[in-house]
Amino acid sequence: MPKEDFRKYGHQIVDWIADYFETMEDLPVLAQVEPNWLKTKLPRAAPGSGENFEEVLKDLDGLILPAVTHWNHPNFHGLFSTSTSSVGVFGEMLAAAFDQKAMLWRTSPASTELEEVTLGWLRDMMGLPKDLTGIIYDTASVSTMHAIAAAREKLNLRIREDGMSGRRDLPLLRVYCSEQTHSSIEKSLITLGLGQRSMCSIKTNDSFAVDAGELERAIEADLEKGYLPLCIVATVGTTSTTSVDDLETIGSICANRGIWLHVDMAYAGSAMILPELRHFLDGIERADSIVVNPHKWFFTPFDLSVLYIKEPEMLKRAFSLVPEYLKVAEEVTNQMDYGIQLGRRFRSLKLWFVMRYFGQEGLKARVREHIRLAKLFASWVDDSNDFELKADVNFALVCFRACPKGVADPCRLNEEIMNEINSSGEAYLSHTKLNGEFVLRLSVGSIRVEERHLKKVWNILESELQRRMS
Ligand SMILES: *Cc1c(COP(=O)(O)O)cnc(C)c1O
Repeated sequence: MPKEDFRKYGHQIVDWIADYFETMEDLPVLAQVEPNWLKTKLPRAAPGSGENFEEVLKDLDGLILPAVTHWNHPNFHGLFSTSTSSVGVFGEMLAAAFDQKAMLWRTSPASTELEEVTLGWLRDMMGLPKDLTGIIYDTASVSTMHAIAAAREKLNLRIREDGMSGRRDLPLLRVYCSEQTHSSIEKSLITLGLGQRSMCSIKTNDSFAVDAGELERAIEADLEKGYLPLCIVATVGTTSTTSVDDLETIGSICANRGIWLHVDMAYAGSAMILPELRHFLDGIERADSIVVNPHKWFFTPFDLSVLYIKEPEMLKRAFSLVPEYLKVAEEVTNQMDYGIQLGRRFRSLKLWFVMRYFGQEGLKARVREHIRLAKLFASWVDDSNDFELKADVNFALVCFRACPKGVADPCRLNEEIMNEINSSGEAYLSHTKLNGEFVLRLSVGSIRVEERHLKKVWNILESELQRRMS
């Protein structure tokens, strides 16, 4: 592209993004298109000769935008509400411009060293032990997969060399987690060849936290059968309800038995920058690995997940493989040694931008405000005769449901209300099932969310219920 064009379109795109951020509230949160809407509007083959970029940009409005679900919308309350900041976008632009493949230190000194520094800052902001080393992966699913691979390596079972198939000398390896654990744990077991049979899912108590007594009994029973405990996964901020497992108790079980402790705080990790919430981390010093997702609640665009690990050598032992053409003399960190990828994106740049632009105080203020808003919404639910809370609001997620008197099927009612709101485009809520009940989830986490946005959802909920009951 001629440099004049690059400047022209570059400015146009920044203007486009600025307009998008300013006017997004007028767009439907959830894309209102039917499946295949976009596919049928696109040609069957790529253009033979290059097109004028002007034409391409036009299709951004006509074709792409209608098929976008706006995660950045302040009324995106489904799943976990996550959004990008403007500086995060700059980080992505520049990372694309530099186009680093951080495999060796020498192929990307900036990416290698900035990652180390920013992850040290983040670790200290969250009050995590100083002996943890951070490594960036794309998602928590991949971070966790690497953590379990490191735990497996630590058992010295020669799995790297001999694999697992065809071996009679290997006992069944077991990974313990709770019924509320994220599905990425099970996927990791599938990916690593441990199999779903390796997973031992422990019952939770009334607060949806792992029942430590049950955990201990399950381990005992496994040991009697000759199984080998590989890892316990504890969660701080589960995906369904943001419940918190007791790290102190689970940590001592791990310590007494020499089992790897992996802590999944993909969502709630960001909130640990608030000293008033640190009590949730009591016992964290026992963790061998921890996952946190700045792409969730730290205003950093997807993707950026961090794995903190006590013994990064275990990752290296599990994954490092250096062909001749990548051999170098210098003694440095070469990021290709710590995972399945060879090249890595320059992801720390956007995180560095976010941390510098907002500062520790700015980040704390935003996360604190989200928690305040979620608790405010929860107070409206609590004060209403027609709605009820279904789980503790530990962070910025409210689990609740409509429960008006005289309704035969509240599950169906709540599901219908949710579908109605989502298809209106006004807001996006998601759901979960707790003790067999259909429960609505409202997550607060967008950098653009204000009290009026929550008031709007509350008004819609109330009038939707009224309409159905009259
Ligand atoms: C969101 C979430 C994950 C998965 O995150 P990805 O980065 O999308 O893989 C894992 N664990 C918890 C607790 C989560 O909330």
